[in-house]
Amino acid sequence: MKVWLDGGLEDTESARVSVFDHGLTVGDGVFETVKAVDGRPFALTRHLDRLSRSARGLGLPDPDLDEVRRACAAVLEANPMPLGRLRITYTGGHGPLGSDRGEDGPTLVVALGAAARRPDSTAVVTVPWTRNERSALAGLKTTSYGENVVALARAHEQGASEALFANTTGRLCEGTGSNVFVVLDGEIHTPPLASGCLAGITRELTIEWTGARETDLPLDVLERAEEVFLTSTLRDVQAVHRVDDRELPGTPGPVTAKAMRIFEERSGDDLDP
Ligand code: PLP
Repeated sequence: MKVWLDGGLEDTESARVSVFDHGLTVGDGVFETVKAVDGRPFALTRHLDRLSRSARGLGLPDPDLDEVRRACAAVLEANPMPLGRLRITYTGGHGPLGSDRGEDGPTLVVALGAAARRPDSTAVVTVPWTRNERSALAGLKTTSYGENVVALARAHEQGASEALFANTTGRLCEGTGSNVFVVLDGEIHTPPLASGCLAGITRELTIEWTGARETDLPLDVLERAEEVFLTSTLRDVQAVHRVDDRELPGTPGPVTAKAMRIFEERSGDDLDP
């Protein structure tokens, strides 16, 4: 396997970043996960826009998007696979121990792993921890993912594949690596960005393609929603058949099934050549 590291391809086994990399020592980095089908990245331009926004939010220099594009193409060409997950990581780079950044400039790594097709439906749990919609990192895709790691482990302990957070005011927010949608009176709703959720690319496309509305919702909407589904790069649109102890029989329901179908049909057009 080959990875891109700061300007060129290297063997995965021998590629090395500094043990003082700020991404490692203080989580000072941003990232993207991009789906690649037969070597073609999906919605790459949207992912690169978000990478730049996240970098700006963290005060990192703007990433050189031409290099990132070249890196993605080179890594995909060097590691052919039918369904892959490109991981773009961009950090504060080598620096002192502590919160001040060093002067060597950022680190860019682009790696590729195999991805598996997710099942059509899944179970989720709610967790007692909150997303902080007023955090300096709210809405940024940073490498500070510890809270998501803890919540996802809780989900796995309970036989679920995703954990859902409320924000600090008890409003429905998002999953550890997905956005959440609910169906109420036959209409699709998803929490607004002000809830503190990430501006998911799959969320954005689902809103565009299904007319889903952004609605501020209480967490307990999950107890009465007719249907619930998740969106993410690696899940696409995925129906939810259980929320905590509540079973949702007949999953996927008709509205979710239609959203899944629309996403599958339309997403073929969005593969970057
Ligand atoms: N929310 C969080 C916290 C995420 O990490 C992700 C993706 O990893 C998403 C939502 C879904 O975003 P996307 O559809 O761009 O994959």
